Amino acid sequence: MKTAIKRKLLVHLFQKQEGRCCYCERYVILSYRWRDQQRPDAATIEHLKRRADGGTDHPDNLAMSCKDCNDSRQEIDWLTYRSLKRGEFQEFVRSVDHGARAAE
Ligand SMILES: [Zn+2]
Repeated sequence: MKTAIKRKLLVHLFQKQEGRCCYCERYVILSYRWRDQQRPDAATIEHLKRRADGGTDHPDNLAMSCKDCNDSRQEIDWLTYRSLKRGEFQEFVRSVDHGARAAE
């Protein structure tokens, strides 16, 4: 995606989501400065269905999330991840933690 398109899209998503991450609902910051974009609460464009799973750049598949959520989602599907981030799924969190330790 071109930078100009990305920026426009991010502003649009920022307004639509009232400045909050689509997963953890914290307020994100929207900045074009490289340093700000490295912050965990920086606004990023998220593909709900991951590109690796055939997700496209179609607006229906895009949302704004904080960098922290974007970086740590990995292969979990977005609805599950959203529940995880909002603490609606404690049992699942525990089992994932357990799985992660077992894999180490
Ligand atoms: Zn987040």
